[in-house]
Amino acid sequence: DPHGAQLRARAVIDLAAVRANVRTLRERAPSAALMAVVKADGYGHGAAECARAAVQAGATWLGTATPQEALALRAPGSGVPDGVRVMCWLWTPGGPWREAIEADVDVSVSGFWALDEVVAAARAAGRPARVQLKADTGLGRGGCQPGDWPELVAGALRAEAEGLLKVTGLWSHFACADEPGHPSIAAQLLTFREMVAYAEAQGVEPEVRHIANSPATLTLPESHFDLVRPGIALYGVSPSPEIGTSTELGLRPAMTLAASLALVKNVPGGHGVSYGHHYVTAGATTLGLVPLGYADGIPRHASGGGPVLVEGKWRTVAGRVAMDQFVVDLGGDEPGPGAEAVLFGPGDRGEPTAEDWAQASGTIAYEIVTRIGSRVPRVHV
Ligand code: PLP
Repeated sequence: DPHGAQLRARAVIDLAAVRANVRTLRERAPSAALMAVVKADGYGHGAAECARAAVQAGATWLGTATPQEALALRAPGSGVPDGVRVMCWLWTPGGPWREAIEADVDVSVSGFWALDEVVAAARAAGRPARVQLKADTGLGRGGCQPGDWPELVAGALRAEAEGLLKVTGLWSHFACADEPGHPSIAAQLLTFREMVAYAEAQGVEPEVRHIANSPATLTLPESHFDLVRPGIALYGVSPSPEIGTSTELGLRPAMTLAASLALVKNVPGGHGVSYGHHYVTAGATTLGLVPLGYADGIPRHASGGGPVLVEGKWRTVAGRVAMDQFVVDLGGDEPGPGAEAVLFGPGDRGEPTAEDWAQASGTIAYEIVTRIGSRVPRVHV
């Protein structure tokens, strides 16, 4: 361990929780296959480990953003079984598209830049690419606009007729699935159905049609189609407070982030704490030093609010989060050497959750778990 961090802090990942969450999601979408979204190192939980766990629990697809992430899942050391389909959706020019085709990775195509380069890569590879055409049904990010769809579908079908690709999927992504009842949800579903129907009428025969992320998997059965594509819920974290807490959703948070206190010391009242002295002790107290900081992904915006469980009590970040450490006011308690600070976990031992940290930092729980830095060892149990 080059950082000597083993004793400093750890993110313990409960793979049984990932498996249980996959089973729960499959029960919510019984007629659909499940693609486990393991991009960004499995939302910070370890991509290969979580991919294997998800497959054990019935996922038949794995989804990533970049082709490099997809290729890593295909590497022999990943332990992902061969029969599992892998898809990546973030097309960028000059990427390893030939390698992706050779590794039997499905590649997303939203426009002609991608289509032309993937077709050239398929020629070079001497085998057809597996291409999933992405429709922008209203997200306004990636995907093909409805007006450009006929041309893209025609281009893909021409390449298919030449044996250079197979259109394996038609797919899209929601803008507001985490806000149940938002009018854009029904509008996107309608547009998706129309764009799929158009492509199929032209002769596209997709293996899968899909649009549902975690919130749609959990709340919107009419969005399930052939495949659901949950990410955050696999890791037991709620997509948004509007959908419910993880407990309410029957999900079990997989990551516990904990650190050993590095120092406990007594200070007098009126003592400024950390950069800027934004916290000043109200009276004589004890301070505990937590050896994690914003370089480890602890949000600086959590300064003064992030909750931490120490010896059964919730404490909050006192003063500013620094790069590698922050302080909690222990209110006179004096934990001994080896005492732990639990930043977040499933919540069933009284600790805060990633959702609590999101609330305290003005962000979403996705960002809390995904940003935990590479300096924090992941321990898979
Ligand atoms: N599908 C795509 C295209 C995504 O980019 C993501 C993640 O943002 C997901 C599915 C999974 O979303 P969620 O984590 O909300 O389930």
